[in-house]
Amino acid sequence: MVSSSDVMRLFLQGIMSRRMVTEKTARKLWQKCIEAVNSVDENLNVPYNDDRKYWDDWVNKVTEALNPLDLEFAHVHDEFSGEHVYGIVNRNGDEVAQLATEYTAIEIKYFKALLDQIMLASNESYCVSSLVALREVKFVDKSISKTHAEKLLNSFVARGWLVRSRKGRYSLSTRTILELQTYLKANFDDSVHECTICFEMVTRGFACTVQNCQTRLHSRCYSTYRRTRNACPTCKAPWASDEQGTGEKMKKIGEAAFKDGQEKKGRRTRQSDMPEEGSGEEAEAETLEGGEDDEDEPAPTQTQRRKGKKKKNVVSDDEQMEVEEKEEEEEEEEEEEPTGPSRTQPRRSGRR
Ligand SMILES: [Zn+2]
Ligand SMILES: [Zn+2]
Repeated sequence: MVSSSDVMRLFLQGIMSRRMVTEKTARKLWQKCIEAVNSVDENLNVPYNDDRKYWDDWVNKVTEALNPLDLEFAHVHDEFSGEHVYGIVNRNGDEVAQLATEYTAIEIKYFKALLDQIMLASNESYCVSSLVALREVKFVDKSISKTHAEKLLNSFVARGWLVRSRKGRYSLSTRTILELQTYLKANFDDSVHECTICFEMVTRGFACTVQNCQTRLHSRCYSTYRRTRNACPTCKAPWASDEQGTGEKMKKIGEAAFKDGQEKKGRRTRQSDMPEEGSGEEAEAETLEGGEDDEDEPAPTQTQRRKGKKKKNVVSDDEQMEVEEKEEEEEEEEEEEPTGPSRTQPRRSGRR
């Protein structure tokens, strides 16, 4: 005998088999599930309504049904298409562990190391070159061959965990942003920025041109905003005219912000080997007085040595090896490091 609860069961099955769906598809699926159940028993008349409110109520119901399992019916903006995408995601704390069905512990460690490099990339570029991605494997486990690492990278892309650009750079996929968001927020609190408009995480889009302004916008949110506004929602600075909403004159976030040579400054880690508390701040202030130019200089807007915040080392087993590696790069890095204005520090405004 069918009942209205069959709609939920059918819907969950449909979502799980698809892994990640656009809102349009999810709503269509919901409608079909209702039709299917109603067609089996003519006395059943489960209502369907296309209104936003009914959809939101349904999403809440699905989430309630999944709650006891530490699962959530979550959604994010697809940063490429701007569409809402939905999926059933694990919220039990170590979401990355779900990769265990697909990868070995060492392979997951490599994936996590790649997330580090992507999240800590300079200039809010949120991507790594294939060279750095491949190099990273030796910090994880020297027994992994380069060929194996290449295969793994291909697999991460094929299974939708990473995106590879035409230039061969790796960045976060929508799947990763959807499914691993809790992990990313917990481990990269200084690198995770929310869109000023939709409050979701941004790894591709635009930032306000005023250096110390916190405004970050997805491309889609930016163009929507620009239809009616010409000033920054946070600092109120006027933005250059942009009738097409292309963000050409805005500060870029994501691969468009990647600057040649930004990876030469050494490997980025979440290790607690940052300068003593306070010292970085002073050095940074000095550099800012000097006035670095964010157009030309590969000055990281995101420093990985977060002042006063000590984080676990993700590659703790290889700490020794990492220290050895660092020694080679340390000199250069120490010179370069303080040029990065950190958003946690006060900065001069209106330098342009
Ligand atoms: Zn947004
Ligand atoms: Zn602003």
